[in-house]
Amino acid sequence: MSPLILSLAVLRIIWRVTLCFLIADLIVGLVHWLEDGYGSPDWPLIGAAVIAPNLLHHAQPRAFLAKSWWRSADLQVVAGALILGTAALVGWFSAELLLIVVLVVNANEIHKWAHRTRTENGRLITFLQEWKLIQGRAHHGRHHGGERNSHYCSVTAWVNPLVERVGLWRGLERLITRLTGTLPRIDPAVLARRARAV
Ligand SMILES: [Zn+2]
Ligand SMILES: [Zn+2]
Repeated sequence: MSPLILSLAVLRIIWRVTLCFLIADLIVGLVHWLEDGYGSPDWPLIGAAVIAPNLLHHAQPRAFLAKSWWRSADLQVVAGALILGTAALVGWFSAELLLIVVLVVNANEIHKWAHRTRTENGRLITFLQEWKLIQGRAHHGRHHGGERNSHYCSVTAWVNPLVERVGLWRGLERLITRLTGTLPRIDPAVLARRARAV
């Protein structure tokens, strides 16, 4: 294999892996936006399993650090296994799909790292965060500050700036309001802050 063909093959792999990271991050952001904007802790099953822990995370951001990998990823593992199994049955299985599922399954773990200190994370994770190969503390902090209605993607540092610039979340919320009349839920801490300011 000539050096040129080898270089092109490596670049192609890097491009595909990058694309998988971006797609996984967008999926994570989309689910997170749905949870934050429309999820209710009163919903059957999902309410207690997903929405209540999510509300707790907003109120006490470091509380979920105590959870094991399995407790943070159990539902994603089941969903990922179903997706991969179905894809294998219909002939859609690919290395790219596998990588996207692996990233989404581990998104909560990457999210946890963004709430840990440098000392807690150790050198490797700190290196990955500082080189923006995964999302770091300062970037994720933007989701927990302000109106708490931005920066829903928690895997990389690349997707949030893009979706915030094009106004994806506000656009989807306007569409849902137009179609169903439903307004997005405002975070309890933001509501409390507004009540204090009145
Ligand atoms: Zn959130
Ligand atoms: Zn967080």
